[in-house]
Amino acid sequence: MIATRETQPPVTTLFDADAKMALKHHFGFEAFRPLQEEIVRDVLAGRDVFALLPTGGGKSLCFQLPAVMREGLTVVVSPLIALMKDQVDGLTTAGVPATFLNSALDGNETRRRLRGLHQGAYRLLYLAPERLALDHVMRDLAQWNVTRFAIDEAHCISEWGHDFRPEYRRLAELRRTFPAVPVLALTATATERVRRDIVASLELREPSVYVASFNRPNLRYRVVAKANTFASLLGFVRERSKESGIVYAASRRQAESLAQKLTSSGIPALPYHAGLEGSERTYNQERFRRDDVRVICATIAFGMGIDKPNVRYVVHYDLPKSLESYYQETGRAGRDGLPADCMLFFSASDAAKLRGFLDEKEERERALGLEALRLMTGYAESAECRRAVLLRHFGETLAAGACTGCDNCLAPRATFDGTQAAQKFLSTVIRVRQASGFSVGLNHLADVLCGRDTEKMRAWYHDSLSTFGIGKDVARSQWLAIGRELVRLGLLRQTDGLRSVLELTDTGRSTLLERRSVQLTVAAPPQIPSRKGARGQLSPSPGAIAGATDETLFDELRALRKRLADARDVPAYVIFPDTALRAMAREVPRNATELRRISGVGDKKLQDYGDAFLAAIAAYAARRENAQPDA
Ligand code: ADP
Ligand code: ZN
Repeated sequence: MIATRETQPPVTTLFDADAKMALKHHFGFEAFRPLQEEIVRDVLAGRDVFALLPTGGGKSLCFQLPAVMREGLTVVVSPLIALMKDQVDGLTTAGVPATFLNSALDGNETRRRLRGLHQGAYRLLYLAPERLALDHVMRDLAQWNVTRFAIDEAHCISEWGHDFRPEYRRLAELRRTFPAVPVLALTATATERVRRDIVASLELREPSVYVASFNRPNLRYRVVAKANTFASLLGFVRERSKESGIVYAASRRQAESLAQKLTSSGIPALPYHAGLEGSERTYNQERFRRDDVRVICATIAFGMGIDKPNVRYVVHYDLPKSLESYYQETGRAGRDGLPADCMLFFSASDAAKLRGFLDEKEERERALGLEALRLMTGYAESAECRRAVLLRHFGETLAAGACTGCDNCLAPRATFDGTQAAQKFLSTVIRVRQASGFSVGLNHLADVLCGRDTEKMRAWYHDSLSTFGIGKDVARSQWLAIGRELVRLGLLRQTDGLRSVLELTDTGRSTLLERRSVQLTVAAPPQIPSRKGARGQLSPSPGAIAGATDETLFDELRALRKRLADARDVPAYVIFPDTALRAMAREVPRNATELRRISGVGDKKLQDYGDAFLAAIAAYAARRENAQPDA
């Protein structure tokens, strides 16, 4: 974890004890996640703070905990109206007075909440940025003893970011209207440029800057070659039939069809994409959030409004457009910190399809798109640690041996002596260049090697090259893969621009001249290793990692939680997170004191739900004792 701190905060042991106690009392947590403690301390000290934490890093706590520890109102600006209700439900369940205002509330309800705000009855108020544009809202804020502004998804303020929202621009007015109120800006996505933009646009004053590592140790990454893809998906999902997961597809049609096929194969699944009616989309998302259905098949339209902590896997049925999207989308798995799987189905023809779509774009966009796609394909085909490749993309270096699970580290891909193949490929690049005076793209090179009769071949007389057809014994798709690997190895360079071609690098030239040996990787195995199979360690169940959880008890507790949640009309995780239920099934607490020791069990929840859960646990223990004859 890297922390950049520009100023030294005052360290008080009193703070540590107070904050830890409040953390347990209100939220039930035993310990802080990385950087939370430092951020909370600075926020309490009244500093401006900029915090960049990955998804699942626990950003909300950074303003929620200070809000309960100090008098006054914390105003949280968030662009996601759907999430406001969740967060407020979660806080209310934990006994923290919180509310939100938005245009969906009716007049009576709005007046009731405003009255509460005037009386100082709340610690947190969630607002959409557009509400701040209303004059009366600003006037109201001035009367409400606002002690802090928390700006969530702060990257929305930057035009350089991927999610610019013009209404965020107005947030600068907060600073001018309330110069004495400290501001906390939070985001999970920000490049250096966006980061500077946020600090400048919000007019933060000498902010403490915290940047957490983007590594998500509990996520396991793997890539599987596309072959019998649906059957592989089905097998994968069946092994996790009780877990929640997201399957991303490239098109609406694909998302629909996958949901249908899974459902008819006995795995209830719902689609989610921008082509659905608003009401159906909301309904499907809600069923997923509430664990009524475990699998959602979605396009990239799905995700921004989701903070379901117990998503146990994210499958990409098709290739994403960029590593940024891939990181974002897989990031929705495992927010609760328990192990989760990220699986990508890859075929080179997916990449070709995406490249085809880019043909219609204007030049600059096309060039950027191609570069992003090249990096994405590089990730998919790489034999290197997946985590290392991802983190490098975000400017981080993963220490050797620090990977906590990816296919390439757990089961290194086999390599073969590719010296001859590389020589054939590299010589073809040279021959083409010598004969024609120009370089050509990967597809044509593969055609030359395979000795294909194409229009270009005849037009350019490449069928008379000495290397024409010397690679007939190898499949064309494999030559394409070899070509891409030679690029990754730095023996070839792929040019930018409209007609991207392959050129020899200096290393490539010397490798060829000195007949140096080249190791190439065998293509990724098409089969998904089974959980219980020889490579079972790739994918232990969350319980297996956490220790011996009694799965039957866990299921019963999960069912109890669902009944309680449905009766209160909230998502299940608002009652207790999965981590807490797993710990209960492992520790089997017999009384309130033991139950309170579990992470996620705060005092209010203990009071409201403790008896129900203790009763269920006791009943289960008694049943099991009766079932087991005395030894
Ligand atoms: P982010 O907004 O950064 O993606 P959230 O604030 O939604 O993350 O937190 C992700 C999950 O982690 C939530 O379920 C939250 O309750 C949990 N969480 C946050 N802080 C802690 C902590 N210190 N200990 C245990 N769980 C935590
Ligand atoms: Zn790895």
